[in-house]
Amino acid sequence: MATTINGLHHITAVSGPPQENFDFYRNKLGLRFTKKTINFDDPFTYHLYYGNYNATPGSSITFFPWTNVSDGKPNVGEATLVQYAVPGDSLDYWKERLNDLDIPIKNEQVYLGHNTISFDDNDGMNLELVADSGVNNFKTRGEGGVDDTHAIRGFFGTLLSLSDTQRTAELLQEFGWKQSGNEGGIIRYQSNPENGLGTTVDLKKDPELNGQFGRGSIHHVAFRVPDDKSQSEWREKLIGMGFQVTPVQNRDYFRSIYFREPGGVLFEIATDIPGFTHDEPLESLGQSLKLPSWYEKNRDEIESRLPELNV
Ligand code: ZN
Repeated sequence: MATTINGLHHITAVSGPPQENFDFYRNKLGLRFTKKTINFDDPFTYHLYYGNYNATPGSSITFFPWTNVSDGKPNVGEATLVQYAVPGDSLDYWKERLNDLDIPIKNEQVYLGHNTISFDDNDGMNLELVADSGVNNFKTRGEGGVDDTHAIRGFFGTLLSLSDTQRTAELLQEFGWKQSGNEGGIIRYQSNPENGLGTTVDLKKDPELNGQFGRGSIHHVAFRVPDDKSQSEWREKLIGMGFQVTPVQNRDYFRSIYFREPGGVLFEIATDIPGFTHDEPLESLGQSLKLPSWYEKNRDEIESRLPELNV
């Protein structure tokens, strides 16, 4: 029997130029730049990772900076919002910081029991800060001048925009998640909140949403399992449920399988092991370009073709 899926592992999106992406996520949001590597399926494109200080599962947002892609607009069958958890009394700090940085706050509301503020990233992707007293004692550091006390801890969750929510809800129930709220057209599913970061997924029925995939779009949502054994059990189980699941892919910092959930969103199940200190020490995460071993022989060419990125 497959184990419960504990929460989100990472969320991967498409960005514009890498330097602008770095300036936003590291310098403005204050996340730690935790890995500079390449898209393993497209080695002349960066794959950039930002998370909390320890690069904990449930904190990593990752980007493919596709410089030639047109602007995306939220679309049905996609994750359309990244929710970050900040301590329960940190929203005033963030409102002031976003204001100082000329980042307009789009909305400020209370829903499903949490105070939130929402805004766009530099590529137009929807972000939300969620006041969550459950993360008050979770230790991290703020980068880019962000106060450690108020720093983003990691994901609160994400929102999926779907033509229908029923079958996706059933899949999340198979994951071991339970409905924890239903307000304003949003149904919230939650794993055990004691699992840590990224324990919610919101479902929104929005069949009229008519956008397009591009810059600022979320490419996929990855869920976490502890190890290869539980991943393998999930692979068998999902195949048994009729999903088309990829073979296991080695992503160096985790192993991955991918499938489309019933609403069309690309889901991944990633292992917590071996983690981001697999090829560099915690203290110097993100400082140098890391390549998977099979691309080391092409390092000179890869380095010369990647765009400039000063970290
Ligand atoms: Zn992924």
